[in-house]
Amino acid sequence: MSTLVTGIGELVTNDLSLGSGLLGVRTDAALVVDGGTVAWVGDGSDAPAADDRVDVGGRAVLPGFVDSHSHLVFAGDRAAEFEARMSGEPYDGGGIASTVRATRAASDDELRLRLARLVAELRAQGTTTVEVKSGYGLTVDDEARALRLAAEVTGETTFLGAHVVPPEYAGRTDDYVALVTGPMLAAAAPFARWIDVFCEPASPHAFDGAAARTVLGAGRAAGLDLRVHANQLSAGPGVRLAVELGAASADHCTHLTDADVDALASGSTVATLLPGVEFSTRSPYPDARRLLDAGATVALATDCNPGSCFTSSMPFCIALAVREMGMTPAEAVAAATAGGAAALRRTDVGHLGVGARADLAVLDAPSYRHLAYRPGVPLARALDVGSLT
Ligand SMILES: [Zn+2]
Repeated sequence: MSTLVTGIGELVTNDLSLGSGLLGVRTDAALVVDGGTVAWVGDGSDAPAADDRVDVGGRAVLPGFVDSHSHLVFAGDRAAEFEARMSGEPYDGGGIASTVRATRAASDDELRLRLARLVAELRAQGTTTVEVKSGYGLTVDDEARALRLAAEVTGETTFLGAHVVPPEYAGRTDDYVALVTGPMLAAAAPFARWIDVFCEPASPHAFDGAAARTVLGAGRAAGLDLRVHANQLSAGPGVRLAVELGAASADHCTHLTDADVDALASGSTVATLLPGVEFSTRSPYPDARRLLDAGATVALATDCNPGSCFTSSMPFCIALAVREMGMTPAEAVAAATAGGAAALRRTDVGHLGVGARADLAVLDAPSYRHLAYRPGVPLARALDVGSLT
């Protein structure tokens, strides 16, 4: 069953052989989807016949957004914590414990329903690939459960048992790391592709460089690939550890030394920026311009989570990146699509070359520029010829 998508006023391909500029843009375009993949891209006037036809009426079409960092398996509500923070209380990661309590107490069906709603919310805003982390269970059974549920909606599942030290292990971080790298990892690994750690010596709840190294080493030995929450609250060891160990992504990158920037520019680790967090915690934004100018690969993601940033909107993150982080609209769109794919080491998403997954986002606008030009306006949605993975 093939489908011709035509009437595309502006097509972002992220494939320089198919269009011009950073985004591989072509105008008055069409593409053919066959068996869930892109089978043909070209001018609307040259479009071949297909079994079915969708005319998008001059709208812009992009690769669906690749949200490479989210925490969607949780229960509870932290709106009051947000209000307190906006009243002047600082964020140090400690509120995670309240989500852990609520998540442990929730049934599978409650968690599944909330997860399904969030995935639908993402898709309604143009996201077609999402990574989902555990990290609000923090027991062997609760972490395995979170990943089992996450695996029902995505192949990009990440074991984050080393999110924070749970209250029952307060003052016994070494014992908790032993649990995470032992029985918890064994129970989680069958449902996880990735392992992650909140490496943040500046937080009393998170993990220092030595503990992070232990967690990542154990994860790799169990067959998982690596990602790191790095340098969110201070210029700690996370980024350089991520690059040294060949992690796919160092996430946050808010506080970077010159050595951190050099490491990201010279290694294969993607710098994933999460500006919704800085927005929602009223904190200084990461310097995307510095990373791009140094030659680092930059991704944008939501970090959708109930504490530090409860947005599911990639368009909102694009608008923030342009307004607050020195990115051009094209750079921000690239980071939200191809950059996210690189952060997940995926070559089948984040672009619309022939053979790519037919994960399309359509805008109620003539150009990708409107994602930053019209902040807060619900322009983007996933076009229903692919599926969220
Ligand atoms: Zn996160």
